[in-house]
Amino acid sequence: MRKISCFLVLYILVFALPQTIPALEPDDYTRLREHMVKQQIMARGVEEPRVLEAMRKVPRHLFVPEKYRAFSYRDHPLPIGQGQTISQPYIVAFMTEALDLKPDEKVLEIGTGSGYQAAILAELVKEVYTIEIVEKLGKRAQRTLEILGYKNIHVKIGDGYKGWPEKAPFDAVIVTCAPERIPEALVQQLNDGGRMIIPVGKAGAIQELVRAVKKKGKLKTNEVMRVRFVPMVKGHD
Ligand code: SAH
Repeated sequence: MRKISCFLVLYILVFALPQTIPALEPDDYTRLREHMVKQQIMARGVEEPRVLEAMRKVPRHLFVPEKYRAFSYRDHPLPIGQGQTISQPYIVAFMTEALDLKPDEKVLEIGTGSGYQAAILAELVKEVYTIEIVEKLGKRAQRTLEILGYKNIHVKIGDGYKGWPEKAPFDAVIVTCAPERIPEALVQQLNDGGRMIIPVGKAGAIQELVRAVKKKGKLKTNEVMRVRFVPMVKGHD
């Protein structure tokens, strides 16, 4: 009898338990997020306190499809459906810091994707306008952001090459998909003194992450990092 119960315990430990590991608890995610901020973001030189605070606060796992949720805080991008990805946490933090955002500003994002980058921006500025070309993704992001209670994020389904002229000018523009050249409409919709961060280059190739500042109608650009983003696709209308 004793032997049988011993086997039973062993069986449960070896076979049954691993399949019934409970889902991660909110506290676990908070810890993973803290680890992400220290090991992936601060360790690589991002130091703006407001950016770090936003990265600590926004629940990235809620922007990731359920089957990948356990990997949300790892040091790489993840699929979000429709062949698209949520960017690596470090890249999100780096691009956000590069925009040098102030609390009363208005930002335009091209490529809503999961809505995660928009949420990070919304922690830092007054209004975020974000455009997504794939309707299904845009709608899903909108739902996620609503559930999380963001009131200062405005999602539009449309072609980012045109920007959002009705809401321009913007203090900053962030593009999270890669065009081959900086779209002119986005430059026009940037305020004087406005900042832009945008990956530029061919689809499937290594691209240059460009930081730009608009001064007296002219864009001054700097290449800051080599990156690989999904392409910025041309709209059909
Ligand atoms: N910022 C996102 C990551 C986006 S991936 C996040 O935090 O999850 C890039 C996104 O750009 C994809 O969802 C893709 O559909 C979108 N995209 C590609 N071309 C576009 C265009 N011309 N206009 C708007 N969005 C575009």
